[in-house]
Amino acid sequence: MKFESLPKHFFHSLKFKMLVGFALMLACIGMMNWISVDRLQAFEDTALHNSQVQLPSLEAAALIQTQVAKLSGLITEITAVNSQAKVRILASEIKSLLTGINHQLIRLEESKAVSQLVEILKRLDVSLEATAFTQNQQIIQNKQLVRSLNTIIQGGLKRMETGSLEQRKLWMPIIQEMTLLTNQTRLFEVVASERKIKKMLLENKASSTLSDPDNELLLKQIMGGVGLFYQLKEKDARRNQLASITTQNQILLDSITENILRLFDQKSQEVKADAGVLIDSMDQARFNYFVIIAFGLILIVLLLLYLKEILFSRLILLSDLIRSGSLTRESLKDFDLKNEIGDIAFQLSNYLTTIDEQRDQLTQASEQLTNVIKFSKLRIAIVDDEKIVYHNQSFPRLFDRASMTNIQELPAEIANAIMKGKPVNNIGSVILRNYHSEVWQRWFDISLVKILWEGKDSNLISLVDVTDRENAAKEFKETISLVEKESQKDPLTGLYNRKVYSQTLDQLSSQPKGESFAMIVCDIDNFKSFNDCYGHQKGDEALKAVAQVVASVCQQSDVAIRYGGEEFLLVLFNRSEDEIRELGLGLVAQVQGLNIPHKGSDFKCVTMSIGVALKEEVSVFQPRACFELADQRLYIAKRNGRNQLIDQSKSMELEG
Ligand code: GH3
Ligand code: MG
Ligand code: MG
Repeated sequence: MKFESLPKHFFHSLKFKMLVGFALMLACIGMMNWISVDRLQAFEDTALHNSQVQLPSLEAAALIQTQVAKLSGLITEITAVNSQAKVRILASEIKSLLTGINHQLIRLEESKAVSQLVEILKRLDVSLEATAFTQNQQIIQNKQLVRSLNTIIQGGLKRMETGSLEQRKLWMPIIQEMTLLTNQTRLFEVVASERKIKKMLLENKASSTLSDPDNELLLKQIMGGVGLFYQLKEKDARRNQLASITTQNQILLDSITENILRLFDQKSQEVKADAGVLIDSMDQARFNYFVIIAFGLILIVLLLLYLKEILFSRLILLSDLIRSGSLTRESLKDFDLKNEIGDIAFQLSNYLTTIDEQRDQLTQASEQLTNVIKFSKLRIAIVDDEKIVYHNQSFPRLFDRASMTNIQELPAEIANAIMKGKPVNNIGSVILRNYHSEVWQRWFDISLVKILWEGKDSNLISLVDVTDRENAAKEFKETISLVEKESQKDPLTGLYNRKVYSQTLDQLSSQPKGESFAMIVCDIDNFKSFNDCYGHQKGDEALKAVAQVVASVCQQSDVAIRYGGEEFLLVLFNRSEDEIRELGLGLVAQVQGLNIPHKGSDFKCVTMSIGVALKEEVSVFQPRACFELADQRLYIAKRNGRNQLIDQSKSMELEG
């Protein structure tokens, strides 16, 4: 029973589902990375902004602060010095500091605080110029005041030295007051002193000393419109003016400090705000991370659960079903046949079904085989190891027995072949001789094949009677050898033909150390004229008669060959030289003794000439050379008058 496979769709495959799962996980990882990169970019931007904008601003603001502190010191110093040169130096230092501050202000970002600072600095610049100027004026005025005071004190002392008692009375308190004035710098002290002197002068109104022109001049220097008191008041006014400018300067400096602090404040607020934004976005990113990681984890868990459900648990179920052998159409319902696992289950169930079917078929075949063996005319036995586990009835009857259980009961060659377990169907044929009349002298083919018998590897031995085939083969072989022999024979004379001549020479060449031999070459004399005289028919008859004489000397392995028209070769083995000579001379005499009339012959009958050579005569072993030597001696016989034999001794005799 095979199941119909469901049509497959890619969206149902596990591959697609796993791809979707991995794509989602990759998307999570991608999002996490994107958030990381985005946050890092924000960090980088903020760090860049802080290092390129905020930090230089804070640096510039700090520098301005320092410069303002320095400026404040210089301003205090300039209002305290007494030298104009020193004032100039300090003024120039202040100028360069202001330029420095302005320079730093340019570095700051454009803002309300910065433009206010620029404005204040402008005003401070003007105010500081006024400070320097006023301080200079004050120094000049002080010097003038000291000079005036000294002139007055000197003048007064002179009056006291040179003048009368009234003079002394007048000038003594005035000089005392003047001397005090050098230390009294406050306005109310000056005014009190002036009032005191005025009172003294009023008390001395009637005194003539006052009208003294020298005294008048001196008093004018003290009390006059631009006199000493005037100068003192002027000095106080100047000092007040300077104090007011200084206060103004201080206010401006304070204002600068305040603005710088505000700037600091503003910048730190901005940095703080940046940091705040970053922290917020970090929090957001952390939250996002959390969400994505949680989502990713949930996804992985779900994916694993899903995989477990659709893959692992299905695989385990499948393995259990296969192990228990209960994979049926019903159990297939547990699988989603649209995906790969379902496909595997489906294929497996098909395989299992096929295996079941094949098992049934095998069982059937096995039963059939048993029946076939049982009722077969073949002699069949099943052998497992050395035991004959089954045989049909005809098998033991071959060996004159009713049953057999061990291969040792079989003929030795069959038992050995089975034990070696090798030539499976090539033991060949054996002849059974010793059992009983039925199989006496009959041939059997034995074949051995490996088969599965009742679940075990066994050998099936079959014996087939092939006696007819063997007999036919034997007959055929005999016929063949007869035909072969005939093909080697000369049809006219019955001697071997030229084919055997070549074979014999080859054979002798291949056995250099073989037995000794002699070659006798025979040729009928003047045979052409015999033919011419008596006709071809008679020629053939004469040829046959001579051939019979030639063949008559052959024993055992000797060979008589007609290698040419009227030429014969005798290869005679294991004979002495004398025997050969005698035998050869006998041949010559026998041919002549046939007495076949030949008018063209000197002997008036058919004769034959012979050349003889022995194996030993040829120094280098070569059968062909031996033949050629015999042939040469034949020609000597021809030249020497024919009807004779020439061998080694005769040839030497003729030459000698
Ligand atoms: P020599 O004494 O020198 O051998 O002279 P020869 O005439 O015998 O030699 P030659 O070779 O001249 O002639 C051989 C002759 O043998 C020629 C041919 O007519 C004859 N002959 C060859 N084969 C046959 C055959 O099968 N039958 C017949 N009748 N004659 C044959
Ligand atoms: Mg010849
Ligand atoms: Mg001849």
